[in-house]
Amino acid sequence: MSSPTVVIHGGAGSALDGTDREQTVRAELERILDELWEVARQNASAMELVERGSVALEDCEEFNAGHGSKLQRDGGIQMSAAVMEGDRRAFSGVINAEWVKNPTKMAMYLQQEDSRVLDGRGAELLARQMGMELFDPIEKRRFSHWLDKTRRHRLGEKPQENADGTGTVGIVVRDAEGQLAAATSTGGRGFERVGRVSDTPTVAGNYATDKGAVSATGNGEDIIDEALAARIVIRAEDGQPLSQAVEETIAACDERDRRFGVIAVDEEGQMSWATTTEVLLAVGRSEEAGTRWAF
Ligand code: ASP
Repeated sequence: MSSPTVVIHGGAGSALDGTDREQTVRAELERILDELWEVARQNASAMELVERGSVALEDCEEFNAGHGSKLQRDGGIQMSAAVMEGDRRAFSGVINAEWVKNPTKMAMYLQQEDSRVLDGRGAELLARQMGMELFDPIEKRRFSHWLDKTRRHRLGEKPQENADGTGTVGIVVRDAEGQLAAATSTGGRGFERVGRVSDTPTVAGNYATDKGAVSATGNGEDIIDEALAARIVIRAEDGQPLSQAVEETIAACDERDRRFGVIAVDEEGQMSWATTTEVLLAVGRSEEAGTRWAF
């Protein structure tokens, strides 16, 4: 038996320096990490932990996942989520689910199924099969940002990057038995075309094997172009320390002006992260390292 490591993130983007939002986001991340830590110390499995963590982050309106997701161009919300169990190398996820509270619960359900990644129509049927309640994830602040973006768009102005706050959520865990898992959930990039597919329900956004678990956030097109999460873990499979793979990959992508960040945990429980953006809203905890903040 070893000790657990838990790392969570609430997105990457422009700095929130000294604003009220920075304090709010910190407080919410800390609250969720504290809750997860208690469960992790009671020997919860890596998959149990990533589900609980991702659901707690989806339920928090501060983040762009589940309740509080960003609106797409037509004013609707489409959410995507993925989970991956390291030891089984099993990826599952939903793409562009609507009217549900926790797409992560659907991704978890699909872990044991033959069809492990479902699109919007499949997600709708699955939500019914799972008896999920209809839920409207639109939150007031996001709606007023959407109104503002729509006005700017109509006037031919460029929207500001991340003007509506923090992003996607994710969690990577090594449990007390040494098992690894990752989960990521998103409302998308915001103001995107209807039907756009995010990086989150792909192996570029969320990936884990028994060597490492990685969750990515930032511009989904950039993340997909770089095959980001899978590429980092595969470098670790090939013998490179995961933290080095994180640093080198992010540094190389920064030179190509990519906009994203990742959190990671390796088989020893060592946490790492890196970003090409001004800020990565992440925090992690282990017995050895204590609580570490990325911002
Ligand atoms: N990666 C997400 C997307 O592009 C957005 C984010 O991480 O904030 O859909």
